Order: sequence, then structure tokens, then C-alpha cells
Amino acid sequence: MLYDMIFIGGGVAALGGSIYAKRYNMETLILTDTLGGTITQTHLVENYPGFPSVTGQELAEHLIEHAKANNVEIRQGSRVNRVTKEGDTFKIEYGKEILESRTVVLATGTTYRKLGVPGEEELKGRGVSYCATCDAGFFKGKNVIMVGGGDSAVKESLILAEHAAHVTIVYRKSEFSKAEPINLARMEATENISTKLSTNVTEIIGETKVEKVKFDTGEEMAVDGVFIEIGRIPITSMFDELNLEKNEKGEIIVNPMSETSVPGCYSAGDITDMEWKQAIGGVAQGTKAAYMGFSFISAQKLKS
Ligand SMILES: Cc1cc2nc3c(=O)[nH]c(=O)nc-3n(C[C@H](O)[C@H](O)[C@H](O)COP(=O)(O)OP(=O)(O)OC[C@H]3O[C@@H](n4cnc5c(N)ncnc54)[C@H](O)[C@@H]3O)c2cc1C
Repeated sequence: MLYDMIFIGGGVAALGGSIYAKRYNMETLILTDTLGGTITQTHLVENYPGFPSVTGQELAEHLIEHAKANNVEIRQGSRVNRVTKEGDTFKIEYGKEILESRTVVLATGTTYRKLGVPGEEELKGRGVSYCATCDAGFFKGKNVIMVGGGDSAVKESLILAEHAAHVTIVYRKSEFSKAEPINLARMEATENISTKLSTNVTEIIGETKVEKVKFDTGEEMAVDGVFIEIGRIPITSMFDELNLEKNEKGEIIVNPMSETSVPGCYSAGDITDMEWKQAIGGVAQGTKAAYMGFSFISAQKLKS
């Protein structure tokens, strides 16, 4: 079967876009390893219009429900390993299957950025974590640090503080310039959060679990947990053969209507060079991709 539009990825960008694709009567398929994506890693979303306060998991479930209500076909459980374009058709290797589509929307998002310090890899899952919402409960009454200073780091420190005895936010810059003011105010009002600015972690130390960290100031601090929230890296290697234009961060360059440098190939969400990475932006890009794909296919049909 030849699909009209295949979304690769199962996060908010793909889910949001798929609703529009289906409403344009396109044969639409979502291919993903897991559904919901990165937003499910946050305990609190208060900035998605129409949903004043939900968990990330709840927001994802609303989008999944909405896509299913529009009869979007969703396949999950395998990974897309390779995408090529042969003539006018995209070929997508999903697990052992090859699927074909007239257009594709690349929405595989990002993975977490590592600190790259000694001890990080060895102690991952033994005190080192990249998801406060997932792991905060394991640190009841413990001392932890959060490495990072963007909005995600500040916001996720709040959930950590609900469980841990104390949270120290360690940030390499001298001020928090990227966090939402409301989250900063909450952080400042939380008694068991303190900050350590202009400081880098240089080593994570522990025999079988995290015991302490070293800073570039020469100091050491005894801690039970190290949470790392220092930005994310786009997942694009399976699209290499499309030779898409990317920026210096490896993000796929899209125009304001979600078009990439390859005709019929669109991209949406955190994988793109969108400066401000939030769910609403990714959903908007996904929906524009659906519209552009529909116009692209309509124009092709008129020509033939
Ligand atoms: C801690 C934290 C807190 C946040 N808080 C907020 C907030 O309050 N408000 C807000 O708007 N945004 C928030 N964000 C940002 C928001 O989560 C992202 O902008 C958004 O989820 C990105 O969606 P996406 O669809 O582009 O990618 P993702 O959600 O990352 O989805 C990508 C999908 O692709 C799948 N995938 C990846 N590779 C493959 C492959 N090879 N084959 C098949 N499937 C694949 C993944 O499993 C995943 O389902 C937060 C982010 C973090 C990390």
C-alpha cells in the first residue's frame, strides 16, 4: 500500500500533525517505537493552551485519543532504521518491514545530552538520571543535584524537591536567563532548593552508586543523586540518505511551513531548527506539514 503521509515518531509533533493529515483525507500512518514522546517526562505542563494544568503524560494521552478518534493508523514497537527516496516515493524501513509513502514527516525528536564527565556512564541508573519526573521518587529524603539551568532543569527541580531532602541546582552560567519567571519564582520560594552558579561538575564519584561530585572550583559535595538536564540532541541518523540540510547543531532546517530541503519531506518538533522547543511549537509545525503535504499531493495529482 502507498500511504499519502507517514509520520516518523510518536511525540506531540507527529500526533498533532496526524490529526490534520487524516482530516485532509490522506492515508496517514504514524510509525514510532513508543507513543507520547518527551513530554511524558515532565510532571507539569501549564503552558499548553486549552490545558491549564496537566501532567505531560496526560497531555500526550489527550493527543493520542484525539488522533485515534480521527482514525489515524498508529504502529508502535519497532524503530525506523532507514528512509530513502526513490523517484517520487519515500521508502521507510520500520523494523523488518518496508513501507512506502508519497510524503513523510520526520518527527523523531531528541535524546538527552550527556555531561561527558568521568563516572557519568558507570553510575547511570545508580544515582545518575536524565529524568526527574521518572526517578524523583527514588530519592526520598536524599541530597541531590540538578545540573542545568534552562526551564526544564528549574521546573524539574521542583518535583525533585517534593521528594529529596535537598536539591542543589548546579549551573555553569551566572544567572538563569532561559527559565520561565513563574518557575524561577517557585524555585526561589522552595526552601529545600539552593543554587550553585558559575560552576561545572567535573566528575561523579561512587563505588556502586553515586556518593559525591567534584566541581571545577576544586570543591567536592556529598550527594546521592545527580540529575542532568542540559539540553538535547536531535535524532536524525536514519535520515542520512535523504541528505537533508541541517544546521551546526545537527537539527533539520525547515522553513516556516515545515518544508525541508527535499520535496515531499517535512519535519516537525524538537528535531528541527526551531529555536524555541516547546510542545505547542512542535504541534504547530506538524499541522503545517500536514497541510503542505496535502497541497503537494494535490499538485502532483493535477500534473498526472
Ligand atoms: C523535562 C522537560 C520538561 C518539559 N516541559 C515542557 C512544558 O512544560 N511545556 C512544553 O510545551 N514543552 C515542554 N518540554 C518540551 C517538550 O517535551 C518537547 O518540545 C516536545 O515533547 C517535543 O515533541 P516532538 O514530537 O518533537 O518529539 P518527542 O516528544 O521527543 O517524540 C519523538 C518520538 O519519536 C520516537 N522515535 C525516536 N527515534 C525513533 C526511531 N528511530 N524510530 C521510531 N520512533 C522513533 C520517540 O520514541 C518519540 O516517540 C519539556 C521537555 C523536557 C525534557
